[in-house]
Amino acid sequence: MNTKPARSLLCILTLFSSGPQLLAHGPGKDSDFEGRRVLFIGMDGCRADAIAAAMEKGLAPHLKALAADPQGLHSRQVYAGGELGEVTHQPTVSGPGWSSLLTGVWMDKHRVKDNRFFGARFQAHGHFMRHIKNVKPTSWCASFADWKPIHDMIADGSRVNGQEFLDVKFTLESHAEQYVAHDESMRDQALQTLRTQNPDVMFVYFGQVDEVGHAASDKRGSFSPDNEWYLKAISAVDTHIGSLLEAMRARPQFNEEDWLVIITTDHGGTGTKHGGDTDEERKIWLIAHGKELPKDRLLNTPVPQTAIVPLIYDHLKISTPLPTEP
Ligand SMILES: [Zn+2]
Repeated sequence: MNTKPARSLLCILTLFSSGPQLLAHGPGKDSDFEGRRVLFIGMDGCRADAIAAAMEKGLAPHLKALAADPQGLHSRQVYAGGELGEVTHQPTVSGPGWSSLLTGVWMDKHRVKDNRFFGARFQAHGHFMRHIKNVKPTSWCASFADWKPIHDMIADGSRVNGQEFLDVKFTLESHAEQYVAHDESMRDQALQTLRTQNPDVMFVYFGQVDEVGHAASDKRGSFSPDNEWYLKAISAVDTHIGSLLEAMRARPQFNEEDWLVIITTDHGGTGTKHGGDTDEERKIWLIAHGKELPKDRLLNTPVPQTAIVPLIYDHLKISTPLPTEP
């Protein structure tokens, strides 16, 4: 994510809906995937050692409990930035990072090298929800993100002939010092969806951790497990995640539903920056919960961030798409 000066007080609110009531099925097993559902949560710019420190210090109790559950895991073997020295090598910044997390391919395919998205090839390598909608046109997909390019660039850039594939697309344009409030809006909208709709797949993005990492040192910034303000931002997002998990578990017929929960980040950071190839920037993490997770592979072998989307396809029992163009 790229924070900008707080010059604008204007927020742009977009709540898109393409007749979700007509498309949504019921709770429980009444869905296109027989009750298999996905809650994918993104925390921008959260270092692997910092989330571990927050969990150890009792600042992230919901994440800790989810990982410690018999069906949960916390992998520290995940990496951003592609393969060093290969065509997949990419900067550890938000544009390429979220492109990889949401399409399942590296920069050699999606071609996003920075936050300007020039030359992006999402028509060929699109957002994973486009594929889900292609396979099951009556499935129900929702996305909530206060870093606007997630929707304006990655999701909209993936639309074929303008065809929308998201049933809910909730966006707020955030500048510096707005992410704390806007993350609350993301949480509230996602909570409402969990309580009133029957989502097959949800993506929820929180931006405040990266914002604290980037803040000037006199404003308590830096990406570091030793920075208590950075850990406090992680703690605030952990509280949001706790609310989402509680709403998920309170759904009618939750016991018949089969949720895969995925929580990860796009990159780490060093000092108040990121983009390079240090361990602090490349090493990320995955906290996941589900009945059929490939735990051995996720815990004991290096996991590229492009492996998240295939986990989702496996859970929904659909195959990985072929590129729509070379
Ligand atoms: Zn980022």
